[in-house]
Amino acid sequence: MIIAGAGASGLMLAYFLPVTTRVLLVDKEKKTANDRTWSFWEAQTNPFESIVFKQWQTIFFHAEGFSKQFDITPYVYKMIRSADFYAFIQAELAKRPNVQFEYGQIESLESDTLEARVQVNGKLFRAPWSCNSAFRPEPQAGFHHLLQHFKGYIIKTNQDTFDSSSATFMDFRIPQNNETQFVYVLPFDARTALVEYTLFSSTLLADGEYDASLKHYLRHFLYLEPNDYTILESEFGIIPMTDAPFPRLHSPRVMNIGVAGGRAKPSTGYAFLRILRQTQAIAAHWQATQSPLYPEPMFDRHAWMDSVYLQVLEQKRQGGAAFFSQLFQKNPAPTVLKFLDENSSLLEDLRLMSSVNIPVFTKSAFEISYQIARRSLMRIAPSTTR
Ligand SMILES: Cc1cc2nc3c(=O)[nH]c(=O)nc-3n(C[C@H](O)[C@H](O)[C@H](O)COP(=O)(O)OP(=O)(O)OC[C@H]3O[C@@H](n4cnc5c(N)ncnc54)[C@H](O)[C@@H]3O)c2cc1C
Repeated sequence: MIIAGAGASGLMLAYFLPVTTRVLLVDKEKKTANDRTWSFWEAQTNPFESIVFKQWQTIFFHAEGFSKQFDITPYVYKMIRSADFYAFIQAELAKRPNVQFEYGQIESLESDTLEARVQVNGKLFRAPWSCNSAFRPEPQAGFHHLLQHFKGYIIKTNQDTFDSSSATFMDFRIPQNNETQFVYVLPFDARTALVEYTLFSSTLLADGEYDASLKHYLRHFLYLEPNDYTILESEFGIIPMTDAPFPRLHSPRVMNIGVAGGRAKPSTGYAFLRILRQTQAIAAHWQATQSPLYPEPMFDRHAWMDSVYLQVLEQKRQGGAAFFSQLFQKNPAPTVLKFLDENSSLLEDLRLMSSVNIPVFTKSAFEISYQIARRSLMRIAPSTTR
């Protein structure tokens, strides 16, 4: 198996594949930097539990006129530093004689029905299958395309500032400017925290605007002036928020994985646990069949609900601040998290949906259902007219 891209999904996949599988991981560089911080919630443990850097049992949600701290039992909100994750998996893989790395820009990645081929550093490698996270498919017209973009600082303060037993999941009290914008705060201890400014919108900001908003938040909500803290690290990221289908195959023997395989949840951008589930499913299917193409459901109602939500956002019918406030105000926080994690039952989904702005969501739900029906008819039409 050739794994093109040795970031989150490529490394996870190599880690889960049977030790007997010969694996080549290709990446332009060896990942070592702490270039991202993954946060997510779960009710159980995960295979990377030993490198969870910090976890919280309670979270704050803040919006204009509504602030509350929630106990999220049975969930725990967790954080993994990417530097720890890369080091952990690379060390594990170094023990496996069947696993090799090749570092360099991928010059080509292609396949036919029999084998996949990747060219890097002028060398050609072949394997029965490849999984790709290095090349993302082109955005498809006719769907929603928003971006989740964010900048965060890890700061160290001069005085005790944070209650490190509680994370701020979302703080919408900042100016919304007709978009969806919030800050989250993940405190590591009384003086250190990751403070991240996040937007859901169609265009990026100038770099200085992220900094200005972060500093505004630090001043007005954490009462920190610039000389009260030091910025230890900063991170910037862009995650696609789209309901456009991600092709499962890059070419006949190359499967797309990770964000390139549509694993970022369109309505929230959370991807880490979805990547974990995807790579585990591939590894299990691979062990049984020597193919990575594990069966996937034909219809996914959570994907449909994500599209409805993107329609609401893109049409600017209601911002995320009001939507998330209604969810957290009217439902137990663990149920909201279960819903956002796509584990809720149909009954729970209906209950949650009845707590949001019903006219806005009903209108958008009809529009999305109409668009889906229209696209399906257009796909059927050419074959029926032949
Ligand atoms: C800053 C940041 C913070 C995030 N925080 C969270 C979070 O808190 N929770 C969450 O659930 N998700 C989060 N995400 C989303 C998601 O989990 C990450 O983006 C995750 O790293 C995606 O994994 P991936 O394997 O798809 O892509 P990557 O991890 O980006 O891996 C792709 C790899 O392909 C390599 N590559 C690309 N092009 C080439 C080429 N031409 N030749 C060779 N190699 C190439 C890259 O070097 C990279 O190593 C975050 C994303 C970012 C950017």
